[in-house]
Amino acid sequence: MTDGIHVDEQLLGTYVTELGAIGETPDGMYRFVYDDAWQRARDTLLRWIDEAGLEGRVDAVGNVFGRLPGSGDGVVLTGSHVDTVPSGGKYDGALGVVGGLAALAALRAHGTPTRTLEVVALCEEESSRFPADFLGTRAMLGLVAADEPDRLRDRDGTTLAEAMRRAGLDPAAVATAERHDLRAFLELHIEQGRVLADEGVDVGLVEVIPGIAWETITVRGRQDHAGATPMDLRADALQAAAQMAREITLAVERAGRPAVATTGRWTVEPGQPSVVPGLARFSLDLRHPDLAVRDRLLDQVHRICADVARRHGVEVDVVRDKDEEPATMDSGLLEVCRDAAERCGASWRRMPSGAGHDSQLMASRVPTAMVFVPSVDGRSHTPAEYTSPADCARGASVLATALHRLAW
Ligand SMILES: [Zn+2]
Repeated sequence: MTDGIHVDEQLLGTYVTELGAIGETPDGMYRFVYDDAWQRARDTLLRWIDEAGLEGRVDAVGNVFGRLPGSGDGVVLTGSHVDTVPSGGKYDGALGVVGGLAALAALRAHGTPTRTLEVVALCEEESSRFPADFLGTRAMLGLVAADEPDRLRDRDGTTLAEAMRRAGLDPAAVATAERHDLRAFLELHIEQGRVLADEGVDVGLVEVIPGIAWETITVRGRQDHAGATPMDLRADALQAAAQMAREITLAVERAGRPAVATTGRWTVEPGQPSVVPGLARFSLDLRHPDLAVRDRLLDQVHRICADVARRHGVEVDVVRDKDEEPATMDSGLLEVCRDAAERCGASWRRMPSGAGHDSQLMASRVPTAMVFVPSVDGRSHTPAEYTSPADCARGASVLATALHRLAW
């Protein structure tokens, strides 16, 4: 450590362990927005915020804030999400929340900042319970539609509004969560991939969060008897779809890192052992931080589908379900983070994010940057997710040092 702000590794380790026990099961973390574990996490965070000498507050959608008031205008915000995926890990989202809290606890010793500092536990990022992508961030940006609380339902049929009321929140007040005073947002997060761990680099400075493209590819062949139809007379929809998926995967492998493609969901009809499939449908998730490269790859995907369909005598239909623009992080904030990394004696590299984050939405309104710390073996969205206490504390120290530069 050189002249950076030092975050207490032991305090941060305690936060990570104790927050990681809330919603923990033998099968990993289950902490979904507004459920019992989420409410206990909220209450625990409010207690820690109070103990750290910060002002605690919960907004209309359940975002939890800890505030270190400044003497002037504007707020510098840090934080991440507190909800998890099913069977998730203890670090995704959580580290950015408790790392931000430990950073503000360390910064409190430096007197009154010019700009107010806040740490936030965003209520929902993963859409594990409701199809409400980035609900906490959207509420802060005024992007929640008025009908969402009554329209969105979880698997049990509970509406978002009902779940909010059970957690002590008023769904009619969602609009009051909107903020106009944010000057910057910094998110500390685990990498969720293996670049930093493989290269032995301490922190990643995220330049861009790729836009995700989702397509549904439907192949229609001819449904026939599995015994009476010779192989040479078939139009097997699944065989054609499998060939398409294979050729798409090979094309993206040839494009090289950081292009990624996943065909994760499949439907086969009629789905009988004795019937040649008449229909096969699969999902494609394709990501690249450079929109032009991603779109060229999608063109290639469409050529592959048409070509394989012709060879197999089937019909193919491709529908775009999601088409996100990449989110570019603020270059000035990245410089602040780079300087902070050097002040903390941390090695760093610039990199794209693999995963999506609250920051991608925040960046549309507020100058935003992300700091990554290494994920052991690149594991994430699994109970095997792990980042060492030293790496967590180093990332939080870089965050604290950058926040100091921005707020004093
Ligand atoms: Zn996350």
